[in-house]
Amino acid sequence: MPFEALGLVSPLARAAAAQGYAEPTAIQRAAIPAVLAGRDLLASAQTGSGKTAAFALPLLQKLLDGRNDPARQLPALVLVPTRELAAQVGETLRELARALPVPLRIVVAAGGVSINPQLMALRRGADVVVATPGRLLDIVDHNALRLGGLAVLVLDEADRLLDLGFADELQRILGLLPARRQTLLFSATFPPAIETLAATVLSDPLRIDI
Ligand code: AMP
Repeated sequence: MPFEALGLVSPLARAAAAQGYAEPTAIQRAAIPAVLAGRDLLASAQTGSGKTAAFALPLLQKLLDGRNDPARQLPALVLVPTRELAAQVGETLRELARALPVPLRIVVAAGGVSINPQLMALRRGADVVVATPGRLLDIVDHNALRLGGLAVLVLDEADRLLDLGFADELQRILGLLPARRQTLLFSATFPPAIETLAATVLSDPLRIDI
C-alpha cells in the first residue's frame, strides 16, 4: 500500500520514500488516516514499529494545512521522556519536513544544553516543539512559550514518562493546555497509571494495538 493511499500529500509520501520507507508499517496504516481525520489516539507501540513516522507524517500535513490559523499560538507539542528521544524525534520531523513547500519551525527543547538558544527560538515562534517535561516547564516559566493555544499534543513513550518520575510535571503541563485539542498517546506498556492518564487526556480515542 502506498503512503498516498493513507491520505498523505505527495511531498510527504515522497519524503517517506526518500527515508527508505518502502511501504507503511502496521501502526502507520492505522494511525495516519485517523490523525488526519482529527481523532485522538491510544496506540500501543514498541520502538522499531515505525511509531515516530506514524505521528510525524500526519502531524506535518496538519501543520501545513492549518498554518494560517491565527488562533493557534503553538500548533503542536511532542512530549518525550528523554533528551535522546527528543533529538531523534526532532531529526525525523526535520527530515520529513524538508520535502514540504513551506518551511515549518521545529524546535527541540530538552535539558542538558543551554536554555538560551531554545528561549530565543521559541520567542520567534514554532510550529512543533519537541520537549522533555522539565525543560518545557522551565521555558514556560521564562515566558517564552504559551500552551493555552495548543492544537495537537503527542505523548510519546508515555509509560517511560511516568516511569522516569514526570507525573507531576505532566499534570502541570496538562493544566496549561486547552481542553479542545487533539491528543495522541503512544506507549509500549499499559499499566493502570497509563490507563488513568489516557482516560483523562484523551477524548473518544481510536485504540490501536499492533
Ligand atoms: P520508531 O519505531 O519510530 O523508533 O522507528 C524505527 C525505525 O523504523 C526508524 O529507523 C525508522 O526510520 C524506520 N521506519 C519507520 N517507518 C518505516 C517504514 N514505513 N518502512 C521502513 N522503515 C521505517
